[in-house]
Amino acid sequence: MSASPAQWDEVVRLLGGAPRVALACHVGPDGDALGSMLALGLVLRDLGKDVVASWGGEPFEVPATYAFLPGLDLLVPPADFPAAPELFVTLDSGSTDRLGTLADRVDAATCCVVVDHHASNTRFGGPNLVDESAAATAVLVAELVDRLGAPLTHDVAVDLYTGLVTDTGSFKYLATTPAVHELAARLLATGIRHDQISRAIYDDAPFGYVQLLGRACAGAALDPGAVNGLGLVSCVVPAEDLTRSGLGLADVEGVIDVLRVAQEAEIAVVLKGDPVEGGFKVSARSKGAVDVGAVCTALGGGGHRFAAGFTSWDDGPSTLERLRKELDAAPHLPA
Ligand code: 5GP
Ligand code: MN
Repeated sequence: MSASPAQWDEVVRLLGGAPRVALACHVGPDGDALGSMLALGLVLRDLGKDVVASWGGEPFEVPATYAFLPGLDLLVPPADFPAAPELFVTLDSGSTDRLGTLADRVDAATCCVVVDHHASNTRFGGPNLVDESAAATAVLVAELVDRLGAPLTHDVAVDLYTGLVTDTGSFKYLATTPAVHELAARLLATGIRHDQISRAIYDDAPFGYVQLLGRACAGAALDPGAVNGLGLVSCVVPAEDLTRSGLGLADVEGVIDVLRVAQEAEIAVVLKGDPVEGGFKVSARSKGAVDVGAVCTALGGGGHRFAAGFTSWDDGPSTLERLRKELDAAPHLPA
């Protein structure tokens, strides 16, 4: 369900009247989380507001991939984030636990606006601008920028394009509608270097990443009988391998995109050992026959129908076993 005109009006009124706004996106931020948050932050700052932006995770470091995003100067570490903001806006977070150490601001804030597109959104806070049919949170922020009557500047366009390209898999996924391409055209018309943005996100990594990718793929397992015969391909990226390669979790987001190429498997899964917090960050992808969002929600995580994840504190084999059970029980979606 998309947001109603009344909800949009309410959010425009709240943002328009606020002297200070505190923005947060989900922990372990990706291109859509960061791009959406910084785009809105830049627009609000241009409207004369005091803006801070953050996410509730330590260590508080911008992933190297996203170091080019305009508006990084809006960021404050979660320790410096207002304890009880008047206007709190969360972006790209489907549930309060995705806000990490900033989750308590949902209740502490006078008002918590939620801008999100996750199917698993729990409708925390409010007013909600939640539209699970939106290809990216960036699409919703672009509409908000228009409704605020703010100009689409070059810098805002770089941030929004980053969100759009990330969450559509470079305009490949089903949610890529004509309106998404129309938005992309508007963003390009501001003069952004989309080639440089795409290269920074997808085609620029240390050699150590290429080698780690090779090890992960060489160790991948294919189980054609899993998921009721639809097939499962999985691999593990151990935390020690990340550390040894000088890489962090954010650097291995792309492993799943290589693994899911395997045509024998409907479902692809990558278990990424978390070098900082321990446990595994699990990424799951479906080619359309199974709702991995529902599967990951059942395992304590969330996401979209065909791209989702969860955190596991079990060892690798037990994590895969739990996931396999859940996948075996999942209904098959109509073609
Ligand atoms: P990725 O596999 O790229 O990390 O995440 C895929 C999608 O699932 C993203 O929309 C992301 O926000 C969501 N997701 C990943 N991990 C979790 C999690 O632990 N909890 C929730 N609620 N969503 C997650
Ligand atoms: Mn998103």
